[in-house]
Amino acid sequence: MTKRLRIAHLYPKLLNIYGDIGNIITLKYRTEKRHIETVVDNIELGDCIEEHDIYFIGGGQDTQQIAVSNELQKHKGFLQAERDRGAVFLGICGGYQLMGHYYKPHQGEELKGISLLDAYTIAGSKRFIGNVTVKTDMVKPNTLVGFENHSGLTYLEGETKPIGLMLSGNGNNGEDKTEGARYKNVFGTYMHGSFLPKNVHFADFLLELALNEQLEPLDDNIENLTHESLVMKK
Ligand code: GLN
Repeated sequence: MTKRLRIAHLYPKLLNIYGDIGNIITLKYRTEKRHIETVVDNIELGDCIEEHDIYFIGGGQDTQQIAVSNELQKHKGFLQAERDRGAVFLGICGGYQLMGHYYKPHQGEELKGISLLDAYTIAGSKRFIGNVTVKTDMVKPNTLVGFENHSGLTYLEGETKPIGLMLSGNGNNGEDKTEGARYKNVFGTYMHGSFLPKNVHFADFLLELALNEQLEPLDDNIENLTHESLVMKK
């Protein structure tokens, strides 16, 4: 039976800052190299959302987040049910923030999230910008690299745990040394970059969760050299 993977890219016209679409490109490249048929559905404002194996939402400025926050409320129950049946989610920065309970920006109303993660975000007084290295026990090698640019400070609660601890950079809030979040198969991170092209071992980790099977390794020599060259890069 031909394996098939369905990816939903949530609101790419609004949340795709810093080339976060590179995460979709990486997932699709790595499945098609393994002869897994992969369908990517772009979901925009007003579209309905059907069942997918992976849901991806990128980052963006506060203004774009307002529109997406309002739209996501229509799909909150469905997406929580998708989380509970084991679908994989990856949210980057602004998208990550909306996977929590709320994001309180500097001005204006609090933006409602969809509570896929037990987390909340409040705008901080400074913007965290720069390269990031994180130590994680989720994958081997046990490092993740990326680029952060956010003023939001995210705090995790309950069973939602970080994806790793900061080796360099600020991460969730610049205080507790945590970066990102995981609950069930829902993952959020502040790492732009894009994230997955710089961390193909994490891309395969997500694919194996979504496909529920171990994947044959690919020849990642160049990808691994790139990752290593970015570890602890200031
Ligand atoms: N607007 C949010 C913040 O500044 C998210 C930014 C982003 O997605 N890069 O924290």
